Amino acid sequence: MFPRAVWEREGRVVARVLALDIGGTKLAAAVVDTTGQVAGFVERPTPVTADSAGLFACVQATLATALQAAGASLSDLRGIGVGCGGPMGYPEGRVSPLNIPAWRDFPLRERLAASYGLPVWVDNDAKALALGEYWQGAGRGARALLGMVVSTGVGGGLVLEGQLVHGARGNAGHIGHVIVRPNGPRCGCGARGCLEAIAAGPSLARAAARALRRGVPSGLQGCAPLTGQAVAAAARAGDPLAVGLLADAGRAVGRVLASAAALLDLDRVVIGGGVSQAGALVFEPLRGELARRARLAFTRELTVVPAQLGRQAGVVGAAALFFQATHLASLGSPTP
Ligand SMILES: [Zn+2]
Repeated sequence: MFPRAVWEREGRVVARVLALDIGGTKLAAAVVDTTGQVAGFVERPTPVTADSAGLFACVQATLATALQAAGASLSDLRGIGVGCGGPMGYPEGRVSPLNIPAWRDFPLRERLAASYGLPVWVDNDAKALALGEYWQGAGRGARALLGMVVSTGVGGGLVLEGQLVHGARGNAGHIGHVIVRPNGPRCGCGARGCLEAIAAGPSLARAAARALRRGVPSGLQGCAPLTGQAVAAAARAGDPLAVGLLADAGRAVGRVLASAAALLDLDRVVIGGGVSQAGALVFEPLRGELARRARLAFTRELTVVPAQLGRQAGVVGAAALFFQATHLASLGSPTP
């Protein structure tokens, strides 16, 4: 089934895949090999369009640019790994990303396989991040890892004993929809008080807008558009309202992690995404709340760290999805 394309580099036999990361704001692609080396990384804005075919053409152009920048051709590759915003049909790879309205039940896996003649693996982008961080980033050696993204939404993936957990329908790890406050703000999923409705960037912006309407003084007054990034920037500048909102988001994450640690006996949590880049403004209240709530001895040993792979996390994770699903590479093992 696979082209017999392998290479030797520094004495190791390596295989390469085309890796694709599809998000609501960015498309990224690269060629990634089984040692984790990334070549030809490209990133471009996700076009804002209702045109499903036009968006697929843009994905193809991004892949072509990455191939060329890596000096690779399709015959060099074992397949295509894709991380994409959810929800999706798994493992058939029909995607309906919440933040990409042009694609509803779009047969992404089938279309890529038909266009490139290669095996294709499509999975949730937060699961990809978790597996990528386990393989090459801040999750290395963890026995029970939760990888989280706190950004436009709040997503997650679980890597237990070295294996990505899929669940009955491929959706394991949706930590953003764990309920933190039963009477809290309405979430995009229809429930009330989900973590995502409190800690995601747009939720921070909505909470800021509510506070401003109540007359809370803040440098955010008159800020347009009022976004999660604007709240994070104001917090870094010391604005008390913004600092309070980020602390609130951090405490909400910490509270959810105390429950997740008890349920899964986690030893590490890796957090990536825009909101987590606020550093101590989020991580200090998060760790404080976690310490107050997690009282069992084993839950007190949980460590929470920022993600390490930065902008390349999505493509490294997408490649890791493919390598683990096809057994092409070992992604490491838990530290004894
Ligand atoms: Zn929800």
